[in-house]
Amino acid sequence: MSVLVFVENHAGQFKKAAFEAASYAAQLAAAMQSTAAAVVLGSVSEEVARSLGKYGIAKVICVQDALLDGFEAHAAAKAVAEVAKSSGAEVVILSNTYTGKALAPRLAVKLQAALAAGAVELPVVNGGELIVKRTVFSNKGFADLALKTAVKVVSLTPNSYKLVENEVAVSVENRSGIASATDFKAKVVEVKKVTGKIPLTEAELVVSAGRGMKGPENWHMVENLAQTLGAATACSKPVSDMHWRPHDEHVGQTGITIKPNLYIAIGISGAIQHLAGVSGSKVIVAINTDKEAPFFKIADYGIVGDAFEVLPKLNDAFAKFKAAN
Ligand SMILES: Cc1cc2nc3c(=O)[nH]c(=O)nc-3n(C[C@H](O)[C@H](O)[C@H](O)COP(=O)(O)OP(=O)(O)OC[C@H]3O[C@@H](n4cnc5c(N)ncnc54)[C@H](O)[C@@H]3O)c2cc1C
Repeated sequence: MSVLVFVENHAGQFKKAAFEAASYAAQLAAAMQSTAAAVVLGSVSEEVARSLGKYGIAKVICVQDALLDGFEAHAAAKAVAEVAKSSGAEVVILSNTYTGKALAPRLAVKLQAALAAGAVELPVVNGGELIVKRTVFSNKGFADLALKTAVKVVSLTPNSYKLVENEVAVSVENRSGIASATDFKAKVVEVKKVTGKIPLTEAELVVSAGRGMKGPENWHMVENLAQTLGAATACSKPVSDMHWRPHDEHVGQTGITIKPNLYIAIGISGAIQHLAGVSGSKVIVAINTDKEAPFFKIADYGIVGDAFEVLPKLNDAFAKFKAAN
């Protein structure tokens, strides 16, 4: 079975999740005694394309079409499906990011492929089948899916697979003429970029707060701690609903799903809808005045205390530790 990985780019650059997908595809190809090729869409320089060689990708197919610079799921699915068909790929890998979530089902339909969305481990190769482990029920359990179709699509949950470096020589093939204006079923009218912040989906450390912070005027305490740690900031749903914080910080079932190495939850009760987006975090610290708060049931460390007293002390302690190390 040959493997093709769709590597998403943002303004011509790859992010960590993209390298993870490339590395995962290369490892899967090695397990299948095959090779992995990558497909990238839009204006990506040859130098950037070649950077995938560090993670074992020997061939990069660049669909160098300016039409594809702004992601549009229908047109992107058509382009990736065409590359997959022409290269005879039997497994297509992508990252389970916002882009991947929009692309994967469309791609699966075009390739008449079984789809496993949100894989968290390398699949087991079982003859012509792939057994893929993914999380279910808001990270409360795992399911092993057996993909039996001739072509298979697997999307990888970001931050769940360790990058494996395996430098290989890369050949770059440029393709054009795949996308046409009629492929676009939606038009991106405006893009508002969040600037000057660590993107939540890529953050390894996250400081998050809820209604326990009482109001937006107290958020400087959360931001100070995040700054000291080099962490991204997040919040619970009511906090963004009340416009205390922007919606791009809202995590949970109806917000962003994250899997950082450290998640600090301050004044957040730990409702199931919130936990759905954060319970995959590697280490969870909860700070809450209520010792019965549900967050303590899943937290690795808990501080029963008033955030207004705990946060300055924690910030001071981390600042001193960082200064001394
Ligand atoms: C369909 C649906 C989808 C939802 N999706 C989401 C979602 O994606 N994300 C999400 O977050 N929620 C979601 N919710 C809402 C969710 O059910 C909870 O209502 C919400 O998470 C509660 O937010 P909170 O913990 O900030 O507030 P609260 O429930 O009000 O909890 C505040 C906490 O702060 C503590 N506290 C108070 N004062 C202090 C202090 N001084 N110091 C320390 N601790 C203090 C309290 O003990 C309490 O535990 C959803 C709900 C529904 C029905």
